[in-house]
Amino acid sequence: MEKVILIRFGEIFLKGKNRGFFEKVLVENIKEKLKEFDAEVVKIPGRYIVQKYRESDEIDILETLEKIPGIFSFSKSAKIVTDLNKIEELSVELMKDKKGTFKVETNRADKTLELNSMQISAKIGGKILAVNKNLKVDVKKPETTLFIDIREDKTTFIYENVIFGVGGMPVGTSGSGLILLSGGIDSPVAGYMMAKRGVKVAAVHFHSYPYTSNFAREKVEELAKIISAYTGKMTIFMVSMTELQEQINAKCDSSYMITLLRRGMFTIAERLAKKYKKKMIITGESLGQVASQTIESMTVVSEVVKDTPIIRPLVAFDKCETIDIAKKIGTFETSIKPFEDCCTVFLPESPIVRPNLYLTKKEQEKIDFDEIINRAFESIEVVEIG
Ligand code: ATP
Ligand code: MG
Repeated sequence: MEKVILIRFGEIFLKGKNRGFFEKVLVENIKEKLKEFDAEVVKIPGRYIVQKYRESDEIDILETLEKIPGIFSFSKSAKIVTDLNKIEELSVELMKDKKGTFKVETNRADKTLELNSMQISAKIGGKILAVNKNLKVDVKKPETTLFIDIREDKTTFIYENVIFGVGGMPVGTSGSGLILLSGGIDSPVAGYMMAKRGVKVAAVHFHSYPYTSNFAREKVEELAKIISAYTGKMTIFMVSMTELQEQINAKCDSSYMITLLRRGMFTIAERLAKKYKKKMIITGESLGQVASQTIESMTVVSEVVKDTPIIRPLVAFDKCETIDIAKKIGTFETSIKPFEDCCTVFLPESPIVRPNLYLTKKEQEKIDFDEIINRAFESIEVVEIG
């Protein structure tokens, strides 16, 4: 008997002809994530297994697998050669100290066996009962379920627990995108959600140093580090909006500060997307959440983006739904640390809630928008995370 971790993948099954590609990307992602451990990742029909790892690494490996998109579920499992007597013997051994109710659930991909899955479950359940008098069968709501997974290749896996992964699709199977990553609650969640749909994400962060501190920047790096457990290594482009904000502040109607600043952000985001071949811009916007997220604001701001789709995975989310996910993925505590965002610098008393494009462009013409953007673009810093 060998101790292994049995991995099942989810939506990959739906992918018909592409299945080979999805499976290949997923196994590469798993290997990359587990490379710090001395473990072997192998593919068997319909499953992956992690084997030959150090016992002391087991918990860390399980926690790592829990964050890899494309993994549906996994189990710590015993692996043996398919032989009904051996399966029976090990099942009895594994259940010998249990109490309460149980059932045996068999999945038989190996159709060469004489008994079908129901018969195997019944036979093994009977043996377990004969040896352990503290157990009773309950097929509806058992306290313990012993799973027996008999694969095509003459290996059988026996396990009790199923741990659910994030599901979704392997990162890298849906192209790549650029997330506008602030230090807030929403954008890290948006990045995670798109990684879960298979998007390889890079991030862009806008700051107004020295009006915003280094702490704001460290916070973003910390958030990127947390989500990189799901997305894999992540590049952050750090962009200064200081000059743009100073110019808007000096020359434009102050109620347009956020609208013009955001037009600057999206202009730079699209340039970065083109330069680094990112197929989409991702944001954490949610309709109506704040003044800058009315449909009119979103329209006037995204008008600067000419031919890159803008994906807003949280557009229909309530804040509390986003917070639930932020807590689940571990970004919430970092996101709520106090910090200044560039959007909070030079904050107007009454930002325009429903801007119109004509008037916004008139305000924009009061500054050297294109040149300021060029300079900001030229001074971008690149930070690698993960
Ligand atoms: P978040 O919680 O993500 O900060 P928010 O509720 O504060 O969002 P806004 O400030 O209107 O809302 O920002 C909307 C979106 O614009 C963010 O989710 C993010 O994608 C992007 N964004 C805002 N500020 C920045 C920034 N400083 N750098 C990068 N992206 C930003
Ligand atoms: Mg914010």
